Amino acid sequence: MALIVQKFGGSSVGTIDRIRNVARRIHETAREGNQVVAVVSAMSGVTDKLIGLARELSETPCERELDVLMATGEQALHELGEKAVSFTGAQAGITTFGSHTRGRIHNIDPTLMNKYLLEGNILICAGFQGVTEEGMVQTLGRGGSDLSAIAIAAALKADVCQIFTDVDGVYTCDPRVVKDAKKIQTLSYDEMLEMASNGSKVMQSRSVEFAKKFGVVFEVRNSMNNNPGTIVQEETPSMEAVVIRGISIDRNQARVTITGIPDQIGYTAQILGALAEAEINLDMILANTAHDGYVRQSFTMPSNELGRAQAALKPVMAALGSTVKVETEAGLAKLSLVGIGMRSHSGVGATAFKALADANIKTGMISTSEIKIAVMVDESDIEEAARVVHKAFNLGA
Ligand code: ASP
Ligand code: MG
Repeated sequence: MALIVQKFGGSSVGTIDRIRNVARRIHETAREGNQVVAVVSAMSGVTDKLIGLARELSETPCERELDVLMATGEQALHELGEKAVSFTGAQAGITTFGSHTRGRIHNIDPTLMNKYLLEGNILICAGFQGVTEEGMVQTLGRGGSDLSAIAIAAALKADVCQIFTDVDGVYTCDPRVVKDAKKIQTLSYDEMLEMASNGSKVMQSRSVEFAKKFGVVFEVRNSMNNNPGTIVQEETPSMEAVVIRGISIDRNQARVTITGIPDQIGYTAQILGALAEAEINLDMILANTAHDGYVRQSFTMPSNELGRAQAALKPVMAALGSTVKVETEAGLAKLSLVGIGMRSHSGVGATAFKALADANIKTGMISTSEIKIAVMVDESDIEEAARVVHKAFNLGA
């Protein structure tokens, strides 16, 4: 008998018919002689609706209260059939800490879940939530049901962890953009992490970090069919044979460039400090000294944070002196090439940038990690950029 954790995302439980389909799947898995813990998201759109309601009452809803409200979204899916017992995050023994609306998991005490499993029940566990040591309901950040599922799989030492969604797995690129994108059979945690945090919306990136830390092997697959999905696991030596595993697209990016900064110690700390205080999520950071002795610095960020960034920078700019100027540009997008094979193959950048140049695509800021090359392009060029690079690396073959 195996213990299987199955997570169903918002779209998999988005309609009554789909909920019935999920119930059927869970019962089938149980009938095959397995213990099943199903972790569920709220029906798609419900969390956004709850947040919208809270905002109608108050422009800046109290986050503690918002957590109590949002947590009800995942609790709507009780009664998935006989022998199915529903659990809230608190009942599942998930304790959390940190800020409301973006809590972190402190511990999972699986005693109660184990008791009900041993009695032959199927568990339906509300994702996205836990409870602080004090007893306050806390949610785990948007997309947090993924984290619930991975953490529960780790705590119960599950044999299998399946993340059900509305696509067949992780693709070499978004198939809506690149027609011949292929489903990836296996990828490493690090590759999945780079793809998840660079725009592939398949999974919450924190949940992938957690899976890596606790060695939880999981499969991303489609709740609407029986196709095998994508397995995400620790890397194996043969994985390095493939140079690029996948390409991610991240739209809605913006850039801020500050020029004329006097080259004195401490200006970066000042600038980044102000942006950090405003909780701006910076991505790429670049600085260089121009021949005139002044420094120019650029950052990228999601474009919806641009206004807040400009406001946060105003006092710093004044403090840095009259030569300083701020330029901003929205309407950018980031293309990321990801693959652990990059570590042992050279010329990856050259191939990618040749393909982009041949397609007459202007490229901007570049950032790299050991297993990623990312480049900013105009948002209007991003789809073509993805297609030509996908082709250059033969990913559709
Ligand atoms: N319902 C929550 C959200 O929309 C959590 C999740 O779906 O994973 O973010
Ligand atoms: Mg999700």
